[in-house]
Amino acid sequence: LTAEYRERRKRLGCLLEGRGLDALIVSSLTNIRYLCGFTGSSGVLFVLPDGEGTLWTDPRYQTQAARESDCRVRVVRGPLLKAVLGLARRRDLGRLGFESDRLTVAEYEQLREGLWLGASLEPEAGLVEKLRMVKSAAEVEAIRRSMLIASEAFQRTVASARPGVLEIELAAELEYQMRRLGAEKAAFDSIVLSGERTAQPHGLPGANRLAADQLLLIDAGAVRDGYSSDMTRMAFLGEPGRKVKQLYRAVREAQEAGVAAVRPGVTAGAVDAAARRVLRAHGCQKAFLHSTGHGLGLEIHEPPRLGRRERTRLVEGMTLTVEPGVYIEGFGGIRIEDTVVVTSNGCQVLTPASKELLLL
Ligand code: ZN
Ligand code: ZN
Repeated sequence: LTAEYRERRKRLGCLLEGRGLDALIVSSLTNIRYLCGFTGSSGVLFVLPDGEGTLWTDPRYQTQAARESDCRVRVVRGPLLKAVLGLARRRDLGRLGFESDRLTVAEYEQLREGLWLGASLEPEAGLVEKLRMVKSAAEVEAIRRSMLIASEAFQRTVASARPGVLEIELAAELEYQMRRLGAEKAAFDSIVLSGERTAQPHGLPGANRLAADQLLLIDAGAVRDGYSSDMTRMAFLGEPGRKVKQLYRAVREAQEAGVAAVRPGVTAGAVDAAARRVLRAHGCQKAFLHSTGHGLGLEIHEPPRLGRRERTRLVEGMTLTVEPGVYIEGFGGIRIEDTVVVTSNGCQVLTPASKELLLL
């Protein structure tokens, strides 16, 4: 991954040039990591149209920043943004872009107060995120490894699911196994829900005991080399009844239709529509409470969103989730989620776990 930073800043530089900007002040730590490799919790990166980058951080990260980043590193005590403006002024730069969706109001005020005659702040949102949507081969490999870890951890964990076990115990086991298998951490707080509680799409595990004849939903992902994975699988403790089987079949067909729709050139909205159409045919589209999926990479939720009428066109190298679900209050919910990568003529599913309803 280290070889790619300079190339990424050059591509960003081209975007800056196209927008008439003299520089971009990057304050999102994830974007900073993407552009220069620095993983610390305090930093601002200043990028010029030719791809030159300067990284500011505080003394805690002096050693780490020099080791991780391929940019010039400046260590300062006090506000980093003030120091960044100092450099812009010395270089007599005028139009300074900043990440308007990543700054607090207080940080914006700090920038504004430091301006001088002839300099202006230009709000820019999503410039680096746009570059991040399409992954390099090395990034796809990191996501693939992350997915293998999460899937293996899921298999090990679900083996210990039986009546009497607490949801939080399973969540703890899952995250322990991910780390044992080489994950840096979980990509998000693992969702482990049982029984009627599965009807909350993003419910969190609690001190609830699994019981016989109940659904079990596990939604989890790992982080490996900075990159996230995401999967959801369902199990049933006992013999499922007709309604569970019907709903499961509907969601599985919808999920497979969504995966089948993923290919270069189609819109994100078309993938959503493909999954939604199947649920409509089964009469359960009203129970589908969210969009069909999302991009993922250095963050667990990235553009594009696979939602209604989303017009972003898919490109080879994008990594996405496909995760339709149905949720019925007082009964339960079912979701199936894979992480996929867009290939030259379709997509490859990176989640190896079976999509059968697991019977425990
Ligand atoms: Zn998920
Ligand atoms: Zn997801």
